[in-house]
Amino acid sequence: MKNIQIGTICSHSALQIFLGAKQEGFKTFGICLRKKQFVYEAFPLAKPDNFMLIDDYEEILDSTLLRKMIDNNVIIIPHGSFVEYIGSKSLENTFFIPIFGNRKTLEWEGSRKLQRLWLEKAGLKLPVVYNNPSEIDDKVFVKFSGAKGGKGFFTANSEKEFYEKLNKKIKKGILRKEDSTNPFIQEFVSGVRYYPHYFYSQFKNLGLSVREGFLEFLSMDKRVEPIDESYRGLPDSLEDFYDYTVTGNQSIIVRESLLSDVLEMGVKTVDTSINLFPPGILGPFSLETIYHPNKGFTVFEVSARIVAGTNLYPHGSPYSFYTFKKPISMGRRIAIEIKEAIRKKALERVVS
Ligand code: AMP
Repeated sequence: MKNIQIGTICSHSALQIFLGAKQEGFKTFGICLRKKQFVYEAFPLAKPDNFMLIDDYEEILDSTLLRKMIDNNVIIIPHGSFVEYIGSKSLENTFFIPIFGNRKTLEWEGSRKLQRLWLEKAGLKLPVVYNNPSEIDDKVFVKFSGAKGGKGFFTANSEKEFYEKLNKKIKKGILRKEDSTNPFIQEFVSGVRYYPHYFYSQFKNLGLSVREGFLEFLSMDKRVEPIDESYRGLPDSLEDFYDYTVTGNQSIIVRESLLSDVLEMGVKTVDTSINLFPPGILGPFSLETIYHPNKGFTVFEVSARIVAGTNLYPHGSPYSFYTFKKPISMGRRIAIEIKEAIRKKALERVVS
């Protein structure tokens, strides 16, 4: 309890996690690709105190390295890349290091089917799903599980256009054939994208009361994708811009009158998670939403852990100033929760 280290893979939101942990007095532990170490060395205040260098992410499940993490008394903070590189199945079955949050949450996030069930049960408005390309009768958005970060996603207005675009992407090598066998076809939702970042706390009475805990709304971002800049090719339309791969994030806020919807969506997500996989979602999570004035908020995904959009706010966001006296990032918020759990001798309530 006295010398716990906060660790994560050096990627995604690691700088923020390390800085936040250091601000709260923890030592930090970075699992880092040898070739990426210089990136973390470049930021003296946010680099991990200890590096565990690897050549390939697969090595993380190696028993010697797992042993090293245990010897270093590490609690791992799972982020998007962590889940992607280790896989939710291995996380469940072979990764024996304590992780922050409820492990079951990552399994619910990792499966499209479970994720949809969760959000449906929460009563959130979701995009219509098409089970087969032959059902396409309106503009749809097509996604693929293996394609990371929006790579290869496209829109189509008919079955014919669906297959034309799919085959072209495979031919160009943008999509792999094996990924294309399992398309996820959704209603194309128009409007403005908002990605609210929440934190569900077991201990701190700072947000909205939900069951035994409290829901804080910390910040919000909007992802940046080449499609957002497609106007730059005007008056011609350049195909390369029709790309939904996430390349960065921008800060955003919503009209204050919409905050009630944002908070309600967060409350419903937490409340339902407690019913489905107790003790439910713990710590940080985010909803991927699209708002249209005529249709309200549609939720197209949940990220059940820290999201990279929080990297915008190492010194807090416009919303966190209404909750905390100090500048609090999501990374620091996680460290505060762990510290509080240690103080209360209740670490088992926040790690699994
Ligand atoms: P995702 O990987 O699911 O977060 O999607 C990547 C990007 O695709 C999002 O940031 C949106 O720009 C876009 N997107 C995803 N789903 C939809 C949808 N149903 N309608 C319109 N755009 C979408």
